[in-house]
Amino acid sequence: GTINGYKNESLNIAVVGGGLVGSLAALHMGKRGHNVTVYEYREDIRTAELVIGRSINLALSVRGRTALREVGLEDKMLKHGIPMYGRMIHNIDGTRNVIPYDRNSNQAIYSVGRKYLNEILITATEKYPNINLKFNKKMSGGKVEKGEVHFVDTSTQQEETANADLIIGCDGAFSSVRREFLKKNAFNYQQIYIEHGYLELCIPPAKDGEFLMPANYLHIWPRGKFMMIALPNQDRTWTVTLFMPFENFDSIKSSDELLKFFETFFPDSIPLIGEERLVKDFFKIPAQHLMAVKCRPYHISSKCVLIGDAGHAVVPFYGQGMNAGFEDCTILSRLFNKYGSDLEKILNEYSETRWEDAHAVCDLAMYNYIEMRDLVNKKSFLFRKAVDDLLHWMMPNVWVPLYGSVSFTCMPYKKCIDNRAWQDKVLNRIITVSGYAASALGFFGVYQIYNNYRMFEESTN
Ligand code: FAD
Repeated sequence: GTINGYKNESLNIAVVGGGLVGSLAALHMGKRGHNVTVYEYREDIRTAELVIGRSINLALSVRGRTALREVGLEDKMLKHGIPMYGRMIHNIDGTRNVIPYDRNSNQAIYSVGRKYLNEILITATEKYPNINLKFNKKMSGGKVEKGEVHFVDTSTQQEETANADLIIGCDGAFSSVRREFLKKNAFNYQQIYIEHGYLELCIPPAKDGEFLMPANYLHIWPRGKFMMIALPNQDRTWTVTLFMPFENFDSIKSSDELLKFFETFFPDSIPLIGEERLVKDFFKIPAQHLMAVKCRPYHISSKCVLIGDAGHAVVPFYGQGMNAGFEDCTILSRLFNKYGSDLEKILNEYSETRWEDAHAVCDLAMYNYIEMRDLVNKKSFLFRKAVDDLLHWMMPNVWVPLYGSVSFTCMPYKKCIDNRAWQDKVLNRIITVSGYAASALGFFGVYQIYNNYRMFEESTN
């Protein structure tokens, strides 16, 4: 058949990587009737034992939800997720204060287990006879421009080659598909490791099986140069993540040093985590690196495209990595709606239109680290937030503050940045104008006093 005058045929699609984005991309393509095969390096996570220390939960927001809704999975994820309506700040003196994300309409981001998300997505593919899952398949190379990918079976070491009309590279931040792009001309690539790493700790449930802290917040211990955060899990535990420069991690070598460090900076968290568990979890695995990737274009010929972390890895401070990857699926789907199965048109437009937003979210994530670990402590930040909230309340469609535009709308990321720059300009102008007004008033006041004085002088002369 045809769509909008473009051919619309069933394609053979190889999805490399069956993580969060790969399994969702398979659903989006499977739903359109294409023949999809997912090749995943790891074993089936539904039957695998949970790897300790990697059980990160994630914040799901509107972009991710939109992409899940398109394959009928939004409600299921939200039911499992725990809504977080704002940040709960833990001060050094043990006091806490709440900064709501959206004072006006009470919107939330949702804490969802990574394993749960991935399992539901994988299981959902089984509803489609045209989606085929292959585990223990490691991509080892290929001629991606020709639609050819090589895999090695990690248990039998057997090699296999896939020939597809389209390869969708969703194999994460260290993508093997992307490595093939690096061998080609005119591929722009930038990879940055930040000087901070992260380490996960855990707060267990209370004795009565309930949460030890108020559950519906993203908890933050902002300490300027570093910070700790905690997101709630379904089982009433908290995943606590400490983000800090590697040199600080390296300076903590013994349990005494660790406890002293926590007593100084996060004293209220020690009884929550428990001394013994803190020491055990802290020294279990070394702090992990955080990396950001920007590249362009995202496609080669009409045969291969990069989405998710493979195309744009971001540091985790805006909670947008997965959300942006899920949004890639929405955008690809829309292009299939527009151009049928004309891959040349689809991939060209995808690359052309997506890079600015993907680069923008990378920058936003870098910025938000500073906001989370430092700015939330500052009066100027709280003042600006109050002004933003007020203006948003007065003009909900005209004035959308930055965090809200990123997390609660699907406004293109680049536009979110431009929008914020415009708001800054407006506020600066208001401040300047009111500054002039204040000076004019002041000047007028001084002039009046002077005049009165002169009148007084004249009358006494
Ligand atoms: P991945 O999840 O990395 O999946 C890639 C898959 O490809 C894996 O299954 C892997 O086994 C497979 N693979 C790799 N190499 C090969 C190969 N050669 N052959 C075959 N398969 C291969 N995002 C949010 O939106 N919200 C958050 O709150 C959030 N918090 C985060 C916190 C931390 C500490 C970190 C590190 C990240 C966070 N993120 C968050 C980002 C999020 O984890 C990623 O953006 C998301 O996992 C990307 O999904 P993906 O499928 O593209 O890549």
